[in-house]
Amino acid sequence: MSNHDQLHRYLFENYAVRGELVTVSETYQQVLNNHDYPAPVKKLLGELLVATSLLTATLKFDGDITVQLQGDGPLKLAVINGNNRQEMRGVARVQSNIADDSTLHQMIGNGVMVITIAPTEGERYQGVVALEGETLAECLEAYFRQSEQLPTRLFIRTGESEGQPAAAGMLLQVLPAQDGNADDFDHLVQLTNTVKSEELFGLPANEVLYRLYHQEEVTLYEPQDVVFRCTCSRQRCADALITLPAEEVAQMLEQDGNIDMHCDYCGNHYVFDAMDVAALYTGNTGESDKLH
Ligand SMILES: [Zn+2]
Repeated sequence: MSNHDQLHRYLFENYAVRGELVTVSETYQQVLNNHDYPAPVKKLLGELLVATSLLTATLKFDGDITVQLQGDGPLKLAVINGNNRQEMRGVARVQSNIADDSTLHQMIGNGVMVITIAPTEGERYQGVVALEGETLAECLEAYFRQSEQLPTRLFIRTGESEGQPAAAGMLLQVLPAQDGNADDFDHLVQLTNTVKSEELFGLPANEVLYRLYHQEEVTLYEPQDVVFRCTCSRQRCADALITLPAEEVAQMLEQDGNIDMHCDYCGNHYVFDAMDVAALYTGNTGESDKLH
């Protein structure tokens, strides 16, 4: 049985702790689509996807979050972007060979994690975190310690389910402005840490929560769908194209007959021929956005 991707929020009635449970397997498969990433890069993208979904669900406002790992190692960049509607996309850039048993640090080399929070209205916030932990979850927990001081734990599981890439995870966070008892939080962390990949990949959320916390009183809220959605469009490509020097654009046209702009995130191609380009410069983009 496969459930479609959903984010669930829940609350412990007897502790000042909230939780999230997310499954993103379908979205994960779409992120991997059209790419041939090495196994550890696939796994890392799955972890980033789970983490970004869990993070965007902590937003108190409309906006989006980008979680990006970058460094001088064979994996130059891995990035996932998501928003409060749980629309997600992501991409990785591999610049040299990555062995199947590579760790996070071997892949990234000297690098950092950059978390950008961009509210629809208001100022962007960017946090740069050293990659101190062994795993992505540990690095993110360090970020929470630095930025919000709300004790937060992430539980990320990636793997396969029914022969397809699968990814899911959970988050526990002490509620703000309430001095949660540290022992209580540790107790809940220990319970949550026993969650198995198969349970997260295959079972309905209420059943997972029951298995983990059957002695606790938990309120589970209405879920939110998680979907893959790329924000690229013909218009955005046109906007980028028109910022290039005209000679450069003319040269590209001469060389190939048209300009083929490719989106790394979703694999879409946007092709501009000489007529399209001419229309750009007269302020008329000609064709309407083909994606919508
Ligand atoms: Zn795209």
